[in-house]
Amino acid sequence: MQKSSEEIARYVYLVNVRYTNKQNKTKEIFFKYLEENKSKQEFEKEISKIWDNVNHDFMNKQIKKLQKTVNKDNVEQAVNIGRMNKKPIYQQTKDWVINNEYFKLTPESDFIKFEQKYKQNVVRNYERSQIAIDSYDRDTYLANKLGSYNKNVNQVITYFSKEGVPLRKVQLSTYLSMLHNTDLTRSAWNQTMRDAEYLNATRFIIPYHPFCCNECYYYMNRPLSKLEVEQLIDKTYNVDIVEILTGNREQVVGDILHPNCKCTLDIYWSDKQISSISYSPMEIDKQYKIRQKINGLTLERSNLRTDMKIAKELGNQELVDKNKAKISVINSNIRSLKSELPTSSLQKQATAIKR
Ligand SMILES: [Zn+2]
Repeated sequence: MQKSSEEIARYVYLVNVRYTNKQNKTKEIFFKYLEENKSKQEFEKEISKIWDNVNHDFMNKQIKKLQKTVNKDNVEQAVNIGRMNKKPIYQQTKDWVINNEYFKLTPESDFIKFEQKYKQNVVRNYERSQIAIDSYDRDTYLANKLGSYNKNVNQVITYFSKEGVPLRKVQLSTYLSMLHNTDLTRSAWNQTMRDAEYLNATRFIIPYHPFCCNECYYYMNRPLSKLEVEQLIDKTYNVDIVEILTGNREQVVGDILHPNCKCTLDIYWSDKQISSISYSPMEIDKQYKIRQKINGLTLERSNLRTDMKIAKELGNQELVDKNKAKISVINSNIRSLKSELPTSSLQKQATAIKR
């Protein structure tokens, strides 16, 4: 079942790429319009095309697809060990499945709320920049603004532990992909829990995988009770949006699962599911972190490419060169991180998505 975990990793990353592209498109319009001295209304109208009515079908489709896969496998297992003497009629189980949700998924309205708040924050920032630009040398102002844009406009979401400790400040794209990560993981776990109930199974297993998250490591590759599963999925983090301009902090609903968990859950059928391959906790931790870093750097590189494009349009060659240099540092960092992974198969998994 390692494939599912890899699938989750891939879709989460693709969602991050989608939102990153939206952010970068917004940023290009921000600087183009600011330079051309367009009004706040014109700017808002243009970026509304990006942020209003965002199509979430891509995400919904992946959640549904993942559910189907797990369901079929479990039924076949139950038939194989003779717990059921024939395959159940799918239509019958379908309605039952839809009405039983163990772990709550994020409603689509939460994604929309975040997208809208982000849009409002960009518009407010645009308005302020329009006023500020008149007090400075335009070229200097635009160059400085490009340097601070990500921090002030994109990196505005903070998430907190349940105890209220701020853990990290992230971009909208990162946060929404984490939310999607939680939904994918939970929907796969939901499916397993429902199947277990339907098939009278009481034990579970998180299959061995080389990029296991910290929280799940202790639970991986051994039979688990339902209680242990529930404890594990309950380890979530709360999230606030920090409104940079007003300094206000607003709590929002979207709970994220212990960050970036891509572990999958199966019903435990037999000891054949226990893998004999194993990495030490330190090795797993290292592998996990390397993959996170590579993904982060790849996205940072796409931000820098946007900055380079904007700097070119602003006619600021110095800034173009600076970004070019940063990109080449990132490229060499990615190469050296990759070389720290022990096998070529792990290297491939850590950088499965090319950009
Ligand atoms: Zn996990």
